[in-house]
Amino acid sequence: MGCSVDDRSWERLRNAAVRVAQSAYAPYSGLRVGAAALVVDTPDAEGRTTGDEPWVVVGCNVENASYGLTLCAECGLVSALHARGGGRLTAFACVDADGRPLAPCGRCRQLLYEHGGPDLLVATADGVRRLAELLPGAFGPLDLPAPPRTPDPSVGAAGDPPPTEAAPPRGSVAP
Ligand SMILES: [Zn+2]
Repeated sequence: MGCSVDDRSWERLRNAAVRVAQSAYAPYSGLRVGAAALVVDTPDAEGRTTGDEPWVVVGCNVENASYGLTLCAECGLVSALHARGGGRLTAFACVDADGRPLAPCGRCRQLLYEHGGPDLLVATADGVRRLAELLPGAFGPLDLPAPPRTPDPSVGAAGDPPPTEAAPPRGSVAP
């Protein structure tokens, strides 16, 4: 297992999650959700880290009148993670406003996998589980082919012909 998390850290996460649940925008379901995760630095290509202590990132759910556009608390958490420079999630807790543990939905398990991997520890109603147990056989970044090489900016930068007028869509009726 990648990392062990002591009781004090879990308590800290749970408290942070309960607190941020108060900020939830949940006028439709009335379910205020707070999520909190412990973040460690990700070393850069040269193995350098900022040396920062592990820190806590939080998020709350944000509902929408369209329902389908509702953002789970995990969405806000992941955005906040990157807003602060990124890092690796090592422990995660999601609760309602009363501190009752909530399971991350299917989509959010995938979100968490991207930023915490199979070893991310998740506090569930049945105790702490590795994310690999909650999302077995996950699809992840390593399943993608290597990204295409960055195009050489010196090629084709100058003297490109102006874009030609868009052809009418196939099947369109001529005026
Ligand atoms: Zn979700």
